[in-house]
Amino acid sequence: MTALAVEAPAASHWSGRLVVRAAGRPLLHIAAEGVTAPLMPVFTVPLECQPDAERAPGVRLWDGPVTEASVCPACLRLLRGEPEPEQPQLLPAGVAEELPQPDPDHRGRRLWAVPDPVTYAEAHLPTEHARRPIKWALPWRPIPVITNYDPSCEWCGDPAHGEMVRGTHGHPSSQTEPLRAFLARRCTACQEMTAYEQVGSDLQTIAHHKSRAPKDCNR
Ligand SMILES: [Zn+2]
Ligand SMILES: [Zn+2]
Repeated sequence: MTALAVEAPAASHWSGRLVVRAAGRPLLHIAAEGVTAPLMPVFTVPLECQPDAERAPGVRLWDGPVTEASVCPACLRLLRGEPEPEQPQLLPAGVAEELPQPDPDHRGRRLWAVPDPVTYAEAHLPTEHARRPIKWALPWRPIPVITNYDPSCEWCGDPAHGEMVRGTHGHPSSQTEPLRAFLARRCTACQEMTAYEQVGSDLQTIAHHKSRAPKDCNR
């Protein structure tokens, strides 16, 4: 190595994204797409769970191992385009809880003739929300593949045709039109599509396109 060599700081990545550690806390966060770390001990960058860099916490570079359990749950959920998990509902006393049905047995299916795949009209993204136009960062891209995560479409069960796209309104430095972040995911096999606004670490549904495909047709 020569005296002129400058070493880039070592950094860990997750699904191609920079991983940072909240300063003074053990939690890891995933930086927004395209973010590279500045050469500073503590800095703020847009995070998956806080896309507005001005409100994001101070973070440090992280060069250690990254496991799903060590990453901020909101960052993981948003990276996968998953909505907030539903809170378990309290059942009134005396009401029997309905148990989930066991998976139907699919083993016999392969014996049946397989018809040509049916195509469905593409779902349209909402162009505005609450009378504010949304700028979508098209094209749609495949949902990042994440270990231990089942990417199957919730409606048709197709495992390989999930896509997502992000959208924005306003700008982080604007007083009148502050940055609002949106995200949509769709299944290109059946065209089930849901668009969300990202509010803090929550995803709130703003539009939903119901698939016309039969339920579970690609399982
Ligand atoms: Zn986070
Ligand atoms: Zn689908």
